[in-house]
Amino acid sequence: MKGRTIVHVDIDAFFAAVEELLHPELRGKPIVVGGLPHERGVAATCNYEARRYGVHSGMPLRQAYELCPQAVFLRGNYQLYQAFSEKFFRLLREYTPDVEEASLDEAYLELTRCRPLYADFSATAREIKARVERELGLKVSVGVGPNKILAKLATKKAKPGGFFEVREGEVEDFLRDLDIEAIPGIGPKAQVELRLLGINKIGDLWGLPKAALRQLFGLNGEEIYLQARGIDARPVASFSPPKSISRETTFLEDIWDKKLLLAHLAYLSDRLSLALREENLYAHIIEVKIRLADFRNEVKRRLLVTPVQDMTSIYRVARELFFELYSSCRLALRLVGVKASDLVRARSLSLFEPYCDRFERLGQALDRVREKYGFGAILTARERMLEAVYPLEKERGFVLRTASLTR
Ligand SMILES: [Mg+2]
Repeated sequence: MKGRTIVHVDIDAFFAAVEELLHPELRGKPIVVGGLPHERGVAATCNYEARRYGVHSGMPLRQAYELCPQAVFLRGNYQLYQAFSEKFFRLLREYTPDVEEASLDEAYLELTRCRPLYADFSATAREIKARVERELGLKVSVGVGPNKILAKLATKKAKPGGFFEVREGEVEDFLRDLDIEAIPGIGPKAQVELRLLGINKIGDLWGLPKAALRQLFGLNGEEIYLQARGIDARPVASFSPPKSISRETTFLEDIWDKKLLLAHLAYLSDRLSLALREENLYAHIIEVKIRLADFRNEVKRRLLVTPVQDMTSIYRVARELFFELYSSCRLALRLVGVKASDLVRARSLSLFEPYCDRFERLGQALDRVREKYGFGAILTARERMLEAVYPLEKERGFVLRTASLTR
């Protein structure tokens, strides 16, 4: 049986490249995306012109400015990058269902299962590269290998903008002269220790027995032993987001009171927001459902240009939709529900943390409290009202009746 074939695709200097594409006047200038020089926070991406000055992603903006004051500093537009990213992954999924989203601009494709479709995997990988570049207008680096680590190391070799393939029989030759920093299991501390032992190249590591590496680095030592030999059995973890997530409550008795209904809506928005955070998803569509006392269901939905996750944004939309539905009916309600659909995954948003919506930070703070003390331990003023009506234990997820996640 033939082995696996993994293609690793990585867009070069992604955020900066998108900015250059949309603002041609920036081309050729050093660009740092992530914030303005005086702002707190780090460079999310910088282009190769900026890297020449020693600027790299993850570096504090102030420091980037000291190294390269002439750089163009941009706050960046996450929605825009997200849109490019979605197009990127849509295109990749045309080639195989086995696509792993390693980050916004980085993917592993496993072609192994698709062997009957492609006569020559190298040619397919080159075609993928050409198509991404043509259809997105961005330069990508592509690496091909018999597993994930080798494919990724091949991409590193191919950067910027190139193509490199490591074949089964060439693994040793390929690895021998690479610097040990290329190995993911070797962090900065391990690097220092190994260099003290005179081990600088991956080939130098081959002389160390597994037991020695274990003694030096514990369990991680075994990982390093395998990685140094290009051994990696990790599967390509393809992900498809659920189609929708919803939360709804059927009341014990029909409810007339508008304030109380809104309290439920706030509670459901809060619950839904938590579920989205847990799945790391943002919703483009928010939908509200009501069931009237006569069992008729009414539904209204809204498409949002900017996907939402935090409870305040969800509640705002849900409340408007609720009023549109409720103002036309003259009956008490048996049920209210809130549903999120057209879900997109949030990736590497934390790079933009300083600009992250304050509602999002509120959500994160609530999560921390609830993790410790339970969901009911902290509620918004609107939800508090429910406690008076339903004197149930907080921990029993008190009024929530149904929760569903559709895959
Ligand atoms: Mg990249």
